[in-house]
Amino acid sequence: MTDPSQTADPPQMAPHRASAGFVEKTPLERYVPPAKPSLVGLSRVQLAEALGTVGVPAAQGKMRAQQIWHWLYVRGATRFDEMSSVSKELRAVLDRHFTLARPEVVAEQVSVDGTRKWLLRLPGEHAGEPPHEVECVYIPEAGRGTLCVSSQVGCTLTCSFCHTGTQRLVRNLTPGEIVGQIMVARDRLGDWLGTRGAEGGTGDRLVSNIVMMGMGEPLYNFEAVRDALLLVADGEGIAISKRRITLSTSGVVPNIARAGAEIGCMLAVSLHAVRDDLRNDLVPLNRKYPIKELLDACRSYPGASNARRITFEYVMLKGVNDSLADAKALIRLLKGIPAKINLIPFNPWPGTNYQCSDWATIEKFADFVNQAGYASPVRTPRGRDILAACGQLKSESERLKKHERLALEAMMIAGHGEA
Ligand code: SAH
Ligand code: SF4
Repeated sequence: MTDPSQTADPPQMAPHRASAGFVEKTPLERYVPPAKPSLVGLSRVQLAEALGTVGVPAAQGKMRAQQIWHWLYVRGATRFDEMSSVSKELRAVLDRHFTLARPEVVAEQVSVDGTRKWLLRLPGEHAGEPPHEVECVYIPEAGRGTLCVSSQVGCTLTCSFCHTGTQRLVRNLTPGEIVGQIMVARDRLGDWLGTRGAEGGTGDRLVSNIVMMGMGEPLYNFEAVRDALLLVADGEGIAISKRRITLSTSGVVPNIARAGAEIGCMLAVSLHAVRDDLRNDLVPLNRKYPIKELLDACRSYPGASNARRITFEYVMLKGVNDSLADAKALIRLLKGIPAKINLIPFNPWPGTNYQCSDWATIEKFADFVNQAGYASPVRTPRGRDILAACGQLKSESERLKKHERLALEAMMIAGHGEA
């Protein structure tokens, strides 16, 4: 996965923009598990193993694991003493050895349009190092609520229009940290069985859809993302069906087939350009996996059909990729693939050379794509007000540069998806 051309760069010093040939950075494996590990993110089998380590007899392991699983992923227990079906003795043992900790919420913002954003701090910090932080955004809409989830702190890739790509620190999230984002959202929204939703909901779940469109390239943290999503989709637990989970990738071709086979969720592809020369600039990973290979992988994505279309994300960059000729080429390119096209107005960030296309240009592009028979919603930016406030909110806790943070905000809001 590491591009040999950039091994000379110490990862934490890696330049953030593509000098010719620079495709990706190397993640730092800095995760240091807490002394008392959390059970959040463990599968049934892993829970049974964990119970074995604290003296639960093997014959009881499966049954006890199932009980704890229910408290964790159906009830959303945050303390062992809530687990009324588990004996007091075992609860005490569990409490001595484990926690039910989710990522720590450092800040919460609520937009006038109902969008909520949580800044989460993760363990693995070393003195003098920037905090490991990710964000998670909840977007309520009529009939559904979408949670935009991060897969990495930062991103090893260096897409030229994306601010996350400029962040130097990159680390993969653990399955618990990925599942933990969904659990934090359910905690904060009161969205567990038996609790009343923050929005006044009673039966239906507030978090009904997941998009892996936050920080990071999910297919570069494949195993953790897979394990987390399989857990989230488990019908006896968090129970968000695979059709309501969308994974967005910048085009890690070999792992697209794996995602289809091993996860089976919906796929979104950050295409953004119709020619290799331009895509090489916008999404430098294209130099490894060019458009043809990427689209071939999409053609053979298991389960893709008219009912389960692949979403193609296309960021609208003024004068770069937004002409009618681009729109025409896009339609030609996607021929034969069950596709939706998601036009994303570019969210500018300080220091970027790109601008968002004019609204009239976006409309013209969208009209052409619609007339060609593709649904092409333009993503409406959500939570603009909390976006504006974010610099202030985080200035105390945060050692990332403010402009890095702002760009992340922009991307998170842009990335709320259509699933
Ligand atoms: N790394 C994955 C998923 C996260 S990004 C990927 O690239 O697909 C979610 C979406 O937001 C991607 O389509 C990404 O290209 C887009 N994006 C990133 N920065 C953006 C910006 N400044 N404005 C608009 N969209 C952006
Ligand atoms: Fe990473 Fe996606 Fe941003 Fe590219 S667009 S740098 S893959 S987060």
